[in-house]
Amino acid sequence: MIADYVATIPEEQRAESATYTQRLALCGTCHQLRDGTCGLCGCYVEARAAKRAQRCPAIPPYWIEEEWAGDTPSGKAGDSETDSAKTDIANETTIML
Ligand code: SF4
Repeated sequence: MIADYVATIPEEQRAESATYTQRLALCGTCHQLRDGTCGLCGCYVEARAAKRAQRCPAIPPYWIEEEWAGDTPSGKAGDSETDSAKTDIANETTIML
């Protein structure tokens, strides 16, 4: 079961709950979604979306990878310019759906 797989993903590799929910919401409105799998990559979207470093395979992607606070020396999320650019991409791709 996919939930069992997701539960085995180490915390540093697992997407935040809000990110996971947002990703699945985007997949849920995507014309590529077929029986829980992505028509572009063939993976189960519930599994793909659960990993922080994953991104949607569409070009441009409908959702992108998430940084982990532990990735930076300060223990905070990545630099604001990069975060802002990612947010812009995510917002643009949401509109494209
Ligand atoms: S193309 Fe992206 S948004 Fe669509 S089902 Fe695949 S992973 Fe989800």
